[in-house]
Amino acid sequence: MELAGDLCVAFVNTAGARKKNRQQGIESYSELLVWGQAVSAVSSAEAARLGRLAAEHPGRAAAVWGQAGALRSALFRVFLAVMSEEQPAAGDLDAVNESMGRALEPARLVPGEQGLQLGWLGDGDALDRVLWPVLHAAMQLLLSLEGRPQVRQCAAEGCRLFFVDRSANARRKWCERICANRAKSLRFYYRTGRAARMKTMDFVHGPYRQRRRTNKRR
Ligand SMILES: [Zn+2]
Repeated sequence: MELAGDLCVAFVNTAGARKKNRQQGIESYSELLVWGQAVSAVSSAEAARLGRLAAEHPGRAAAVWGQAGALRSALFRVFLAVMSEEQPAAGDLDAVNESMGRALEPARLVPGEQGLQLGWLGDGDALDRVLWPVLHAAMQLLLSLEGRPQVRQCAAEGCRLFFVDRSANARRKWCERICANRAKSLRFYYRTGRAARMKTMDFVHGPYRQRRRTNKRR
């Protein structure tokens, strides 16, 4: 189950999209829809409808894509500020608040299968509705723990993805299984002998020869 705030973190992380982290980038409105559907911000029926509308109104779709990019950059900087326990820049808060205002207006509490849940009033034609759940998640996240949410940036080299630290001691360093496992296997590498190391490295990264060939091409 998605926890409050994860959707917002996932959205900001699309800025640092890297294949090895299986992160998806967002380079157009249609990619925003694909992402929104993948993270259940919109249903497949909604995504299909919005996709058709976007094709009819490419200018409006491009404007929403622009808004999404600005929002993502602003949230990125707000996260950095929150992490270092500083006040976010006023311009960044303004950018988030402007989008948030548009997302909160149609927000409604509706009865769901397991109690009340978040629903959206009417406007199925609003192209920016794919961002509404993200903004709702952003508000929940940034207000959690009295405005000091445990937003962290992964410590793995070349990763830098954000995550919400929900560990008991609040000292998690790595984003997800991929980076956490990589760090674990490196610790193992330094503790064990050469034969075991080669075996482990083959297992983690593929055969050594293959790695050399790939490195040469760069
Ligand atoms: Zn990571």
